[in-house]
Amino acid sequence: MITTDKKDIRGIAKSELEAIFQQMNEPRFRVKQVQEWLWQKGANSFEAMTNLPKGLREKLSQHFVIHAITMDKQQNSLDGTIKSRWRLHDGHLVESVLIPVPEDNRFTVCVSCQVGCSLTCSFCATGRMKRVRNLDAAEIFDQVVLVNQQALEVFEHPLTNIVYMGMGEPLLAYRNVMESIHYITSPEGLGMSPKRITISTAGIAKMIRQLADDQSKVNLALSLHAADDEKRNKIMPINEQNNLAALMDALEYFYQKQKIALATSTSPLRILMTLCKML
Ligand code: SF4
Repeated sequence: MITTDKKDIRGIAKSELEAIFQQMNEPRFRVKQVQEWLWQKGANSFEAMTNLPKGLREKLSQHFVIHAITMDKQQNSLDGTIKSRWRLHDGHLVESVLIPVPEDNRFTVCVSCQVGCSLTCSFCATGRMKRVRNLDAAEIFDQVVLVNQQALEVFEHPLTNIVYMGMGEPLLAYRNVMESIHYITSPEGLGMSPKRITISTAGIAKMIRQLADDQSKVNLALSLHAADDEKRNKIMPINEQNNLAALMDALEYFYQKQKIALATSTSPLRILMTLCKML
């Protein structure tokens, strides 16, 4: 476990970094170079930033750290699926899964967003772990970068899709999840299309509305698991405060806000029932 009082440079806003560089008498364009290394090239050390003067790289190492995640264990299935367990800087472990479907040119990573989970779904191993903390945006971003490298090495194909469906409930790690999506999709980051990203939720109606209000362009999936409240309450306790009627309202709001034209026959109930059949 790495213990240090130095701040993770990836947790510092660009404007703050510019002020810090100004104090260090470093030109403004150096901030842009550092940000490119961090968010476009996925650099996990200052030494890797080879277009920066050596003195600046040393200065950065003295003042900051990069809390990159590291491989703890990898399991390869016969069907090509690769499960990776990552160690975070504070010693906690989370998992990602690479799901290849080469015949469809589809290479999906399922990423984690929390250490543990507070929602205690009865069918889920993570639900039996106490929620410890949310992953920060960079820790989620790292999973995408590293699994993309796996996909290139093993399948000679980059990732095509990202689903937030690993450990944790993404809508309860909302700010960090949205920040990670910013770095994955923006031109200053990996530049992937938000249409390739799906947030999968156990069903937090208030946060589905928040996602709609924020006009996010990502896809949303609801893990239904049961199509009536009585059964769902038993296996997904979150349903007690977010019953199917509340979720249907929130989904309708989401789709209206996203300006997705619903055919008159496609009511929110139909969406839920369709999802249910898919599960
Ligand atoms: S919300 Fe997801 S991670 Fe959390 S307990 Fe339910 S299924 Fe597991």
